[in-house]
Order: sequence, then C-alpha cells, then structure tokens
Amino acid sequence: MEKTKLSLDDPFFNDIYDVEEGIPVFKYFLNGEWKKSNDRSKIVSPIDNNVIAYISRPELSEVEKAIENMYSKGKWKIRDMPGDVRLKIIEKIADILEKHQDVVIDSLVINAGKTYNSAKGEVLATIERLRKSPLDLRKIVGDLIPGDWSSEALETEALIRREPYGISLIIIPFNYPLFDSANKITYTILPGNAIILKPPSSDPIPSLFLLKMAIEAGLPKESIALITLPGKHMSKVVSNSKIGIINLTGSTETGIEVMKEAGIKQFIMELGGGDPAIVLGDADISWAAKRISLAITSYSGQRCDSIKLILAEDKIYEQLKNEIVNELSKVKVGDPRDKGVDMGPLIDKSSADQWEEGVKDAIAKGCKILFGGKRINDTFIEPALIECDRDKVKELVAYKEEIFSSIAIITKFSDLNQAIELSNDRRYGLDASIFGNDVNKIRKLVRLLEVGAIYINDMPKHGINYYPFGGRKDSGIGREGIGYSIEQVTAMKSIVYNYKGKGVWDYI
Ligand code: NAP
Repeated sequence: MEKTKLSLDDPFFNDIYDVEEGIPVFKYFLNGEWKKSNDRSKIVSPIDNNVIAYISRPELSEVEKAIENMYSKGKWKIRDMPGDVRLKIIEKIADILEKHQDVVIDSLVINAGKTYNSAKGEVLATIERLRKSPLDLRKIVGDLIPGDWSSEALETEALIRREPYGISLIIIPFNYPLFDSANKITYTILPGNAIILKPPSSDPIPSLFLLKMAIEAGLPKESIALITLPGKHMSKVVSNSKIGIINLTGSTETGIEVMKEAGIKQFIMELGGGDPAIVLGDADISWAAKRISLAITSYSGQRCDSIKLILAEDKIYEQLKNEIVNELSKVKVGDPRDKGVDMGPLIDKSSADQWEEGVKDAIAKGCKILFGGKRINDTFIEPALIECDRDKVKELVAYKEEIFSSIAIITKFSDLNQAIELSNDRRYGLDASIFGNDVNKIRKLVRLLEVGAIYINDMPKHGINYYPFGGRKDSGIGREGIGYSIEQVTAMKSIVYNYKGKGVWDYI
C-alpha cells in the first residue's frame, strides 16, 4: 500500500491548516482565532509511522491570557444565549458533520488507525449523539421545596436552580477523539458552560475538525478554545483556578496526576477499565464466543470497555474456549485502509511494547497462549487469548494493570463466588458482561459486581451513551450518559424566599 497521507480535499477545513513542503501544519484555536506557531508536534500514522501532519502548539502564557478572557467575557457570552439557540447550534454541528464526514472518516483511519467500519461507526454515532441533545436539555431543571416541612422554614420556600460552572477543561483520549469531543462538548455547552478542548497528542486531527464544525455552527468564538499542549505540559492549565470543571477521559494514572494538580474543582473522570465477562453454564456459547471475540479485537482492544478477563463456568469451559479461538481465527489483522481488515494497528510502538510485556509476563507465570500473541511489527499485533489457572490470575500484570490492547485471560470457575472475587479484586470497576440465563445467578452477580454498568448477554459497549456508564474504584468518578451528565456540569444554587408575616399561607 502507498504511504499514509491525510486526504484534505474538502475546502471547508482550509483555514485550520497550511501546507508546508507538502505536509499540513494544523493550527490551535485561542482567543477566537486559529493560530499557527513554530513550536510544533509531529503527527504520525500508526499504520506506517509516516509523518502525516504537524500541529502548532501555543505558549503557556498565551493559554493563560485566553483563560482570563474566557473567564471575564466568554463564559458569559455562552451563558447569556438562550438554551434554544445553544440546542440549535449542537443540532447544526450534526448537519455539518454529516455533510463533511468523508474527510473526518479518513482522519480516523489514517491518524487513529481505525478500520473504515469503525471510523464510519464513530462518525455515525457522533451524529446520532449530537441529535439526541434534546434529551439532555430536559434534565436542566430545578426543584421547588416548600418550607412547611420544617417548623423553622414555615412561610418560606426555596427554588433550587442549576447553573453552569463557567469554564470546563475537556481532555480527550486517543481512542475516540471525535465522539468523545462531541459528547463532552454537547452536554457541557447545553447548560451554558464555556469549554477548553485538549485533544490527544497522538491523534488530534478529528478533534480539530470537530471544533472547526462547532465554530461554523455558531458557537461563540470567545467561549471555546482548543489547546494542543502535550499532557505533560498541562500542569499550570489544570491547576488554573478560573477553570471550574475538569472532564477527563484517559488512563487512571493520568486521572490521579490531574486530580493531585487541579485542587478543588468539579471532576468528571472516565478512567481505565478492561472488563470481565462471566459466562454461566447455561449460556448460548456460540453467541458468547462471538461477542467476546469482538470485544477483544474491536479497535485492537483499545477500548476502555474491551474484555480482558473471561471467567467461564467449568462445565462449558472447553467448549467456550474452543469457540472463542475459532472466532479469533477469523479476525483479519492488517492495514485498516484495506476494507477487508477487521483489526488495525495499535496507536504507537509503546502500546505494542506494553502488550508484548503483558504476554511474556503471563507465559513466565505458567499461562498458555491459546491464540495469537505474536507481535507483527512496531504497531501491529495478533490478538492474544491466554489460558491461566484461576489461582495464578491475580499475579498477572494483565490482571493488575490495564493493558490497553487485544489481550484477554481466560480461566474457569466452579462456584459463582470465585468469579465475583476475581472480578471485584481488580482495581478497576468500569463494566462487566454476563452471559447466561439462570436468573438467580444473574441476579446475584448484578447485586455484587462492583462496576458502573453490567451488560447481560452482550459485550460491554458504551455506544452513543444512551445508557449511563462510568467507573467505580480506579475507573473513575461520575457518569456519562445522555441526560445524566448535565447534573455534573451544573452547580446547584438554592434561592430561599421569605414571606413571613405577609399572610400568604392561611394556616399560620
Ligand atoms: P492518557 O494517556 O491518560 O491520555 C488521555 C488524555 O490526557 C490525553 O489528551 C493526554 O494528553 C492527557 N494528559 C496526559 N497527562 C496529562 C496531564 N498530566 N494533565 C492533563 N492532561 C494530561 O490516555 P489515552 O492513552 O489517551 O487513552 C486510553 C485510556 O483512556 C485508557 O486507560 C482507557 O481505559 C481510558 N478510557 C476510559 C474511558 C471510560 O469511559 N472510562 C473511555 C475511553 C478511554 P497527551 O495525549 O498529550 O499525553
């Protein structure tokens, strides 16, 4: 195949980059303008490590000045718009994305290494999510509390309003650069917050495209910014006291660092995961194997809701493992520009290094590779299914940490409590899958698993966030879900009205 190259043949995006010596140099967006600088990061494609773009980076002092301006003007500009206007803007972003989707799909293939189907799926999910924004709006409501439930509060009443916090810093992971940016922008902007978007350094281009579309749709320029600083240079931004919310999706390690630096703020933290699948003795094994295989290999395992631990009841263990192996053997790994390919590369070499270490660690501890486990080159791997005795599982790096790529450990259990213990003893608590029909066993698992979401007879999938999800333990704080995140980006304000002695209530 030819060297990777971004297809930039849509003039709509022309003002967000210049071409220098054949390579696009993208701009950042601060103080209402797209700006280029000489301080640049190199963007490579994970498919062939070819340089596909440069991205300009702002000076920290420039970012701090922009935050001042946003705090004094921009946050009021968005807040003072009628909610109906903000809603129309979000809906218009969906229309613009629909029209210009080809370039965006291409950027997800070339910059993020997604297959065409995954890239197209992310674009379609983003359009649908934007169009579901009226469901969020219905949650921007308050309460009226009558005073007569307390002798002290007689002849008073209170209105509880929800107000925007002001400025939200939105930090995006590499795995859903378009969807995550759109989702977080939607529920943050709707109640009237201003936003600073920080895209991932490895694949920022889809987020840049989205911001361009959001500006064209009419978001006030003073109320939005896009900063391309690397995460490790973000400390002064994260701790800036003019920022009211930090909304991060990323690894647990980043979450811990950001929370330490940030001080007192409102946090939404969607952090590390990697989910267990518990397969009961009466499950539909073929279906379970198909969904588990997909959950291991979809986007090369670079999903927070990817399955990393398979716990199978002993009587179906052999059949399940053989069927998963069979399903994995059908997965075609290769260049994601080839439409027949199911699994593309990992985002960078260090991810593949981490995966390789995880595989070696499991072998060194006596586990056995049932399928794959070979590294193909710097960024391409074969998905790994590793069989391990139950009493060894807790020693594995793949159990203790999140290896963010296609690797899954399979083991058997004879008593449901063993499966519960192995699921709950992980530091993560994002989701779990249960395959089976025994309603009593399922009910017990539902009650005892320490996770944010459980998928019964399916793989975990956050999809367009129609159902709320989010982590417990080291997987995070808060929930993302259409309608459910509004609460976390708005502050409550109680307004107490005193009518004492005015004769409003006859019972006094
Ligand atoms: P990451 O390395 O933690 O980076 C996430 C974002 O944080 C990037 O934009 C990164 O910027 C930025 N960042 C890093 N250090 C920072 C700092 N000190 N201050 C401010 N920002 C900082 O994660 P990733 O590799 O992109 O994404 C994969 C991780 O996200 C996995 O752990 C996955 O489970 C998790 N995830 C969770 C969910 C969920 O719903 N719970 C969903 C998706 C992904 P740079 O790129 O410039 O370093």
